[in-house]
Amino acid sequence: MNKKSALVLGAGGFIGGHLANKLKRNGYWVRGVDLKHNEFQRMEADEFIIGDLRNPDLVKSILDRSFDEVYQLAADMGGAGYIFTGDNDANVMHNSAIINLNVINEAVFSGSKKVFYSSSACIYPLYNQLDPENPKLSEESAYPAAPDSEYGWEKLFSERLYFSFQRNYGINVKVARFHNIFGPYGSWNNGKEKAPAAICRKVAEADENGEIEIWGDGNQTRSFLYIDECLQSVERFMANNDFSGPVNIGSEEMVTINQLAEMTMEIAGKKLRIKHIPGPTGVRGRNSDNKLIKEKLGWAPSERLFDGLKKTYPWIKSEVEKLRNQ
Ligand code: NAD
Repeated sequence: MNKKSALVLGAGGFIGGHLANKLKRNGYWVRGVDLKHNEFQRMEADEFIIGDLRNPDLVKSILDRSFDEVYQLAADMGGAGYIFTGDNDANVMHNSAIINLNVINEAVFSGSKKVFYSSSACIYPLYNQLDPENPKLSEESAYPAAPDSEYGWEKLFSERLYFSFQRNYGINVKVARFHNIFGPYGSWNNGKEKAPAAICRKVAEADENGEIEIWGDGNQTRSFLYIDECLQSVERFMANNDFSGPVNIGSEEMVTINQLAEMTMEIAGKKLRIKHIPGPTGVRGRNSDNKLIKEKLGWAPSERLFDGLKKTYPWIKSEVEKLRNQ
């Protein structure tokens, strides 16, 4: 029997790296593509191509056949320190939009069967995320659109781009809005890290009884989904033939950033002071709304945030120690 084939764009990154390896272990023939190799995990993909997806010729060459599944995760992105300062707005919009324009067009020409696109919770309107206790992020609340970052606007544009190709060219697309995915083997100290990795790093680096810095007052709320759970839901989404999304993929366990820090300290066995400093914080409140994914795919996360952090902290601690001993 022929193996199913998958193309994973952004396989040198955090989610793409985990996904490409999982697909390979599930018996797929896998081609990964990225600007860079994955720094943190050995890639098991059958082929790994280093290339720039902004280049249409490269995109044509990697979509030289009909793939059963194309996963488009490549994006110019990072955590709050990258997307909320304004310094990277032009690159974020230009680079990610060009990648998506190239990919969906060539995916149609290649006759590929299903295209997964990773959108983001950042597409949701700022006006529904002002109250940290009651954010509103159900899928239909995306409009009237008012994302709080250019990163969010590009994601919203690209969601619409993928759905336009589905309507006009009949290609099967799947659009998920990821909400803060975390776990081992992701950015943790290069300016692109997100809150869980940044807090794990700060806690791991701090002296016993020392302190860590948190941007803002730490009362902003978020939810975080562990990488394995994210990939489970993506698998279920891709196996479903009736539903294209957009759908939230996230956790509904909402915590403040201060609580996230307290949990991490508990796992590390350190009691540290939290010093609040000015910094980019994003919206006041954000939480996944999982009604639609439960209804359409029968999926909900099975683990608590604490369990995922217990698996993430030791990896970041070991990276911190590796760097210290260099
Ligand atoms: P990541 O930065 O680790 O991975 C993205 C990868 O895309 C990187 O390896 C990068 O090198 C690659 N890339 C960027 N520009 C490229 C180009 N021109 N050509 C080839 N490769 C290029 O990010 P991630 O956390 O793995 O996120 C994957 C996707 O999920 C992204 O589209 C992101 O916007 C989306 N997303 C992630 C989260 C999250 O919490 N991690 C939340 C919402 C949405």
